[in-house]
Amino acid sequence: MFWDRKIETLDRPALEQLQLQRLQKTVRRVAAHVPFYREKFAELGVRPRDIHSLDDLRRLPFTTSADLRANYPTGLLAVPLDDALRLHTSSGTTGKPKALFFSRQDVDNAAELCARSFVMSGVTKKDVFQNMMTYGMFTGALVTHYGAEKVGCLVIPAGPGNSERQLMLMQDFRTTFIHLTPSYALYLATFLEKHGVNPRRDLALRKAFVGAEPYTEGTCRKIEHGLGLDVYNSYGLSEMNGPGVAFECEQKHGMHLWEDHFLIEIINPATGEPVKAGEPGELVLTTLTREAMPLLRYRTRDITSIITKPCRCGRTHRRLHRITGRSDDMLIVRGVNIYPQQIERVLMAQSGVGRNYLISLEGLDEMTIKVELAEAGFEGQVEQLVKLQSQLAEKLRTEILIKPLVQLLPPGSLPVSEGKTKRVIDNRKL
Ligand SMILES: [Zn+2]
Repeated sequence: MFWDRKIETLDRPALEQLQLQRLQKTVRRVAAHVPFYREKFAELGVRPRDIHSLDDLRRLPFTTSADLRANYPTGLLAVPLDDALRLHTSSGTTGKPKALFFSRQDVDNAAELCARSFVMSGVTKKDVFQNMMTYGMFTGALVTHYGAEKVGCLVIPAGPGNSERQLMLMQDFRTTFIHLTPSYALYLATFLEKHGVNPRRDLALRKAFVGAEPYTEGTCRKIEHGLGLDVYNSYGLSEMNGPGVAFECEQKHGMHLWEDHFLIEIINPATGEPVKAGEPGELVLTTLTREAMPLLRYRTRDITSIITKPCRCGRTHRRLHRITGRSDDMLIVRGVNIYPQQIERVLMAQSGVGRNYLISLEGLDEMTIKVELAEAGFEGQVEQLVKLQSQLAEKLRTEILIKPLVQLLPPGSLPVSEGKTKRVIDNRKL
């Protein structure tokens, strides 16, 4: 199913021509209205009229999350404040957030891309959408809310948490698709199990859009099993409208990134140079249609790679592999670079292991991985535990190159969260 067949299947040369026109317009816009970019262009000796092809993108400056904070609150605004229609922020761990402005056209484009994404995965106006993302300054809930309304779905703005109420709404209004974080999805699956609800028998759920935190294929399977539905992977970030930047189609193999609105680069995070086609690296995005706050070559810090083969669904917009981590989240343990996602991948692929885990770093670079056992299937023999423990430690050593201490815990012993779950605790005295 297509929301806008013409643009979604536009042939590559026409798509690239459209991208070039939009890039040139964006560069002219920021050169005229944003002093930050004007100064960067002067430093690099580049003028808007020097952009003749998409390859000239590499002459333009990168924009980082630090640049957004340094220009807080309105330094990167490219329209008069009167023409801004909505403000979102992206939370930071410390200090000021990033302020992100939307014009009327930006608000509309964001909803349009979500509508396109939802329909791509089979959503129709008959669907009932229960949105379990946090409403508020964060883009996650509002942008998908308006996207689903555009499709014509009944939208239930439930927000996250309060699982009793979520269940009541899902039962009473026959919710068919939900949008939530992977950690809340796992929590909700456990909640249903504890309350004797069999989602396949008792609920109308068909699909879940899971995003906001990276997660592995193994977690995805656990969510599908636990909630009795199909999980569609999605990607977005507040700096680029929020959700709806890239979404899985019904083939469920990689996420189509909407290239009429964003230009993709994959770079080596250390050197800033492009990687070879299909190789993993940091995703860098340039907005092509944003009016209020266009961003050039934004360093997302997300690690992924491009699927170079065309998709069977007929869409020409290229696909990204699942995000495997953030270059910011990278841990350095005993000199080895480790992404928490690598650990999750090993744990979630192991039978006998439950849904919750915690990576704990202590003392002088000691890594302990605490992981809950699965609810069912464990007979309680010590030999069985010891065997599982050593299997896991060995598989982890193969994946992350160091051998962590593995602690198996009874189901339900680690703290659970209805929001974002903290997976790494770093108490190292280094
Ligand atoms: Zn496809």
